[in-house]
Amino acid sequence: MEKKKLTVDGNTAASRIAYLTNDMAIIYPITPSSPMAENVDSLGAKGEKNIFGEITPVTEMQSEAGAAGALHGALSAGSLATTFTSSQGLLLMIPNMYKIAGELLPTVIHVAARTVATHALSIFGDHSDVMAVRQTGFAMLSSASVQEAQDMAMIAQMTALKSSIPFVHFFDGFRTSHEINTIDELTLGEIQELFPFDEANRHKLSALSPSAPMQKGTAQSQDIFMQAREAANPYYDAFPKYFDESLKEFKKVTGRSYAPFEYYGAKDADTVAVIMGSATETMISAVSALNANGGKFGVICVRLYRPFLSERFSLAVPKTTKTLVVLDRTKESGAVFEPLASDVSAALTKENRQGIKLIAGRYGLSSKEFDTNHAVEVLMNAYKATTGKPHKSRFTVGIDDDVTKLSLGYHDYKITSPDLFECRFYGLGSDGTVSANKNSIKIICDATGYYGQAYFVYDSKKSGSITTSHLRLSPKPIHAPYLTKHVRFVAVHNKTFVSKFDFLSGIEPGGTLLINAPYTESELERELPARVKNTIAEKKLKFFVIDAEKIANEVGLGHRINLIMQTAFFKLSNIIPAEKAIPLIKSYAQKTYASKGERILESNMLAIDKSLGALKEISVPVSWKTTTAGKNMAHESKGNKYFDEYIEPIMRLEGDKLKVSSFAPNGAVKTGTSALEKRNVATFLPCWIKENCIECNMCSLVCPHACIRPYLFKSGTQAAKDLDGKPAIGLSGYDFKIQISPNDCTGCSNCAHVCPAKNKAIEMVEPYKIYENEVKKYKIAENLPHIQNPLDKFTIKGSQFEKPLFEFSGACAGCGETPYIKLLTQLFGNELLIANATGCSSIYAGSAPTCPYAKSSNGTGPAWSNSLFEDNAEFGLGMKQASDKNRQKLNHIVDFALQNKSMLSPKLAKLLSCWKTQDKKDEQTALSIRDELSALVKQNPNNLIKDMYALNAAFFETSVWIIGGDGWAYDIGYGGLDH
Ligand code: SF4
Ligand code: SF4
Repeated sequence: MEKKKLTVDGNTAASRIAYLTNDMAIIYPITPSSPMAENVDSLGAKGEKNIFGEITPVTEMQSEAGAAGALHGALSAGSLATTFTSSQGLLLMIPNMYKIAGELLPTVIHVAARTVATHALSIFGDHSDVMAVRQTGFAMLSSASVQEAQDMAMIAQMTALKSSIPFVHFFDGFRTSHEINTIDELTLGEIQELFPFDEANRHKLSALSPSAPMQKGTAQSQDIFMQAREAANPYYDAFPKYFDESLKEFKKVTGRSYAPFEYYGAKDADTVAVIMGSATETMISAVSALNANGGKFGVICVRLYRPFLSERFSLAVPKTTKTLVVLDRTKESGAVFEPLASDVSAALTKENRQGIKLIAGRYGLSSKEFDTNHAVEVLMNAYKATTGKPHKSRFTVGIDDDVTKLSLGYHDYKITSPDLFECRFYGLGSDGTVSANKNSIKIICDATGYYGQAYFVYDSKKSGSITTSHLRLSPKPIHAPYLTKHVRFVAVHNKTFVSKFDFLSGIEPGGTLLINAPYTESELERELPARVKNTIAEKKLKFFVIDAEKIANEVGLGHRINLIMQTAFFKLSNIIPAEKAIPLIKSYAQKTYASKGERILESNMLAIDKSLGALKEISVPVSWKTTTAGKNMAHESKGNKYFDEYIEPIMRLEGDKLKVSSFAPNGAVKTGTSALEKRNVATFLPCWIKENCIECNMCSLVCPHACIRPYLFKSGTQAAKDLDGKPAIGLSGYDFKIQISPNDCTGCSNCAHVCPAKNKAIEMVEPYKIYENEVKKYKIAENLPHIQNPLDKFTIKGSQFEKPLFEFSGACAGCGETPYIKLLTQLFGNELLIANATGCSSIYAGSAPTCPYAKSSNGTGPAWSNSLFEDNAEFGLGMKQASDKNRQKLNHIVDFALQNKSMLSPKLAKLLSCWKTQDKKDEQTALSIRDELSALVKQNPNNLIKDMYALNAAFFETSVWIIGGDGWAYDIGYGGLDH
């Protein structure tokens, strides 16, 4: 029977099964698992019925701990219930998971496996979360692909009901959860055939009910707890039987066959890798490539991780094996081995396979790329162990560890598949590139029967970010869970990208390059960096430009260029002939925009038609092969080591190349670094019309990015001439000017909208009209001598003459939260200690590589940290108690010191008295004390000096604020929360 194909992501594939086979879902959303709950919700909203003929409702709880508690309750009362989670969400469920497994309640928790925050938060994928629940009694089943995310969801559901053992079904966050791939759909009929209705009824019959009362969850003591705990052993002993039964039934119904441990490779392999999750497909490709060249390699793909069936594992290891290399996608500091390697080691001992050498490594933390080249490096290192050559028995792969020297190297082994058509698209966050590419994959797969794969890489900023879409198409199923490496088509959707990073890496000779830019051929000479020109000429690329912005403006689509670029892609790639492709794009556009009104739909149709004629092929001059002329790369050196060696490579999208020594081991980074970034993302800039300005400073107040500010300066000076301001109201002898930072502005227009002047004093204009001039003026304004704020800083106008110590954040254009945080720093910036919850406010404030919290000219300013998602109140309370305690201790020490002045330098004695008489509030005095103490500790100091130096931070006023994930802020005062 012809299989029904479905092009979906892993989250959709797994959650569809969860929806169809459960009575209810109880959730708390957390990236990257949230789309699973959203999908369940949307299936319900569409009225789709589950296999019991009902809608599966979703209940959202107050936290993951709440979701786990409710899940436990629902299962106890006889429902088939499920949940979805990731990372610390799963860790918050641990106490309930022990209860659920302890009471033999069948359920499946679907996990998009994600990094647990350590020195930094990361929303990306690894196994640190699932490995933290391996002891709960849940069975653990891993899916390596989108297909498996669907299939294992079903197998887990079936086995949980048969065995009474609950499951964690997990797949790699983002890599599998968000990868779109073409799979064979498990049809409703197949699901009904597979579902164990009798066992589901048995579960319902065992429910707690007053109709046949019993008691669960009792308290037991040392006399009986242990025996009762051991009483569940037969269920775990019987588990393999039920798991095998499910696999057998699944194969019978679908034809797809799985095992707890699956072996691929040479029958007589001497070197065998053990791996779990999406990287298994990568390892299989590497093993196949090496074996095709005479190698004897193999790989064991672990699907069932708990219970770890050691006998089955041993059976999967070829008898000829000399070395097993185990790869773990987690880090367990201080352990002999990471978890999977520990289990393999124990299994080898138990099954008497000690003759096999075991080596182990870490890979892929936080979605670190693991491609076939990395996999080959792992196998080659293991092969050295097999042949008795020097090798690394504990290693990392995918990074350059120049500190502990654990890492393996990286070489391009050029493992490709001629069947694959790979393409890459660089879009600006929210410009529609990602959704257009999702549509493209579906259009192509539906129309051609091709298999498709789409994976999207987002940078961590909330605005002006780069999204890279990696698309693959093939007549065969695609097993390539890593980024595109040998691309035949590259599209750059924003002209500012051309000088920002190496978008041509991996492009194949004769490939096609498309850039959205308004440039003529001679302008391209000026705008393209020499390196780009060299590659275009050397690789004989077919090079096209299209002015998508112009078309979008003409047809009334504003900045939405996605459909124009999509049409250009179809035309140039010719995967589907244009005459067939255009009607398909139009029909998809019809579906997408029909509900948005006739005008928008018409504009989109017009955009498609206009795009075809607007593509311009560029004839590439021979001189480009060797030219050294062209635009400088945007992130040229700023003479700042930290910027050059840390920030700049990350902005160039080359953070993967940074070595371990580039990072502080505790994760601390410098503040005040967003000012170095200069992202230059605005498509319109505010232009100040001085004649209309009433000097109210409202524009500055509302600017989310602190890139429009009022400046005061002496009239008649050169600066006054250059800046061309106007007389400052109420401050004779001074001029006033509103100045923008054009490279930091996001073009949100908030300043223009709020301007209350009768004739607007701000007009949004095309950047080219004012950019150069404004860059010069901004430089002058930034270097103006400091002038004491002439107004009360606690007024709207006065507050804006204070330097913001929160500037140029990565918040979305037009953000409504950041103006408040900025204002907070203008009022109290030099004393702020911030405990931030996780959410927008921690992402725009704390995303690598830069920090928007800045320093005052004294070097003081906000200090910031983030603990967990929602514990900022507790985290801040701890900070408050510590800062109060330190201040109290310091007070005592200073009192003692002032009574024993002979133990101090005369200067320090004077400063300390001064500090006391100033009510300990003066920052200058605190700075002077710190300087004096720093000097004294270097000169054989007494204990009093040492103690005061250790507490020198407490000489400064500290005000602890807690900021919520969505930007709300409270000051923790002496009596608790007082705002
Ligand atoms: Fe600030 Fe937006 Fe105005 Fe730019 S356009 S200066 S980001 S308010
Ligand atoms: Fe001038 Fe308008 Fe800004 Fe007020 S809001 S300072 S009137 S530009």
